[in-house]
Amino acid sequence: MNANQTRQAAIAAIATNDAVASQFDYTQQPTSSVWGDNVFSVAEMAERLPKNVYRSLKKTIADGGTLDLTVADAVAEAMKTWAIERGATHYAHVFYPLTGLTAEKHDSFFDPDTSGGTISGFEGKTLIQGEPDGSSFPSGGIRQTFEARGYTIWDVTSPAYIMENPNGATLCIPTAFVSWTGEALDKKTPVLRSMQALNEQAQRVLRFFDTAGAFVSSTAGAEQEYFLVDKRFYYSRPDLMASGRTLFGAPPPKGQEFDDHYFGAIHDRVLACMFDVERELFKLGIPAKTRHNEVAPGQYELAPVFEFSNIATDHQQLIMTTLRKVAEKYGLICLMHEKPFAGVNGSGKHLNYSMGSSIAGNLFDPGDTPAENAQFLVFCSAMIQSVFRWSKLLRAAVASASNDHRLGANEAPPAILSIFLGDELTQAIEAIATGSPVTAKQDTLSVGVDVLPPIPKHSGDRNRTSPMAFTGNRFEFRAVGSSMSIAGPLVVLNTIMAESLSEFADKLEASGASSVGEVGSVVESIVKDVWTGCSAVVFNGDGYSDNWHAEAEKRGLPNLKTAADALPQIKAPEAVELFKKFSVLSEREVHSRYDVYAEQYIASVNVESNLVVEMVRTLIFPAAVRYQGELAQSLANLKAIGIEPDHKTVDKITDLIKNIQDVTEGLETLKAKEAEITDVEEHCTFVKDEILPVMLTIREYVDTLEGYVADDLWPLPTYQEMLYIR
Ligand code: ADP
Ligand code: MG
Repeated sequence: MNANQTRQAAIAAIATNDAVASQFDYTQQPTSSVWGDNVFSVAEMAERLPKNVYRSLKKTIADGGTLDLTVADAVAEAMKTWAIERGATHYAHVFYPLTGLTAEKHDSFFDPDTSGGTISGFEGKTLIQGEPDGSSFPSGGIRQTFEARGYTIWDVTSPAYIMENPNGATLCIPTAFVSWTGEALDKKTPVLRSMQALNEQAQRVLRFFDTAGAFVSSTAGAEQEYFLVDKRFYYSRPDLMASGRTLFGAPPPKGQEFDDHYFGAIHDRVLACMFDVERELFKLGIPAKTRHNEVAPGQYELAPVFEFSNIATDHQQLIMTTLRKVAEKYGLICLMHEKPFAGVNGSGKHLNYSMGSSIAGNLFDPGDTPAENAQFLVFCSAMIQSVFRWSKLLRAAVASASNDHRLGANEAPPAILSIFLGDELTQAIEAIATGSPVTAKQDTLSVGVDVLPPIPKHSGDRNRTSPMAFTGNRFEFRAVGSSMSIAGPLVVLNTIMAESLSEFADKLEASGASSVGEVGSVVESIVKDVWTGCSAVVFNGDGYSDNWHAEAEKRGLPNLKTAADALPQIKAPEAVELFKKFSVLSEREVHSRYDVYAEQYIASVNVESNLVVEMVRTLIFPAAVRYQGELAQSLANLKAIGIEPDHKTVDKITDLIKNIQDVTEGLETLKAKEAEITDVEEHCTFVKDEILPVMLTIREYVDTLEGYVADDLWPLPTYQEMLYIR
């Protein structure tokens, strides 16, 4: 089959796709009956563990710390029995290396014994600690191969679960991955440390509002955007397969200009896939809640209900895994890349972020009483100050080669970090900051927080162009990329909040106030100081407009356009100090992260530039010269019968071929030069300034060519086909 026949065959196959056979009978097996089926939940533990063991485990879950080995033995035994009852044959310590992916190594529950039978090798110490050969995971220099030992340690706060496969099941144990020197080699460990730091500082503040005492955890709900394309098209696109995005492809005649896809009726095959995904997620105890079509054709969203940050992070990884896996059952490929298709919307992972405790409630909720309002104002001010002070670090936390194609592309928040508060909240805070008279109600006065106005309940106004939007009881960090782990952004958010809260706690403690009735003036001064120093970061207008870019520059807000510009912020001296101060990352851990992320940036663009060269040579060029040959032949034929032919098309194609060849050669020369660069930062800059622009030039020529070459010779599935046929 030549290239085009593959395309035609794909289209024919999809066109005759049978209706999706129904798999679930919700009347017989309602969702509630499968919920959490594959999770070794707290309820399951309560049922299966001896009372004292259960109590001890619950205490470890609540307070952190390590599990006593005798307790661990009992837990391991119960967990194994539970897993084997569910058909599990293997167990795996699942961990989250710096690649942002999930890693797992499976071991059988059974070992042969000397008498010809089997014994089970799953004990307490196997449950709480594993020792995978971690030498092949990027550690940014923390661990040389000769000291390859890394440990995985069960995160008792994140429950074990079973992953099903048609041929068996595996017990999965979520773990942190650390080196033998105790340094974090993964994404989970810093999340846990940053949650700890946030809790400590929040407690110091909450004491003044009589709401301290229960663990303050940050909460996260990440809305996952993704594309689905037919598997058959995907396999004819080497660029999609190897880099996750199309490196070529002319815009389709119909793009997203009618806005007819967003919230539109969901295609049956896609909807069937979504039902299946959600069913799988429910079994894993992941509260998938919302599904809808997104803005671009072929683009969708899944949002779970929010959870504690560390659980949400683990679940977020599982959501991506499940989406990918289940989509294939329906002949679809789930694209998680931030910008799989140029010219149509990219995908983000809007990270809804808040914090709270069982006593204090949601700390970003203005609340009903003046005391709650005062508490809210402190936490809200902390957020404003943190984002203002650490906007570059936040930008770095969402930096990747793939997210660069999305941020600032007039569909996603710009690379400039600002906060949207909405007009009413802005006015309320401004009123306090400027000391304007406050229309306080009687009950406002009664608790002594007399300077503080009632905070308006969320007015419902929305700003979808802000990278950090207040949405009534949480902030929505919209710059996070769809393919990313939410761990990095959460670590930064938790840590910078911890810092601001620690400063406010210092002020509260120094004031000598001892109860909620006495903190009014301190809260007022906190709000005032933050507003005076940091209000430049508050912007309620259209973040996509050019005006904002000009305005932001006037305000002195940083605009780090690319990952190459942003990544070094991770290891800026002040960031290193911050992470050290709150025991979230050591200096070596910070540097290792920069090294790994920078290498990833370089590696992903390198894969893409390799692909560009290869696809031009083996797919684009052959198609172009074939068509050129056909045209030339036809011109000769016309001439032979005395018709003076028009050369326009063949000239155009000849020109394009020449340009493509020249620029591709140029790219190869650049790549040879690139190979000589040894400094990582310099390398990133070279990639950004030299390699990527040339790739784009080649793309422009190729996309123009696509509009000329006969469709039956064009080797790549088109945008029209990938975005609309399913
Ligand atoms: P929208 O599309 O309007 O932004 P969605 O319903 O798609 O809203 O997603 C909102 C997300 O915010 C959900 O994941 C939801 O659970 C989450 N969320 C709600 N409250 C909180 C909170 N207190 N902390 C963190 N996330 C929250
Ligand atoms: Mg949404």
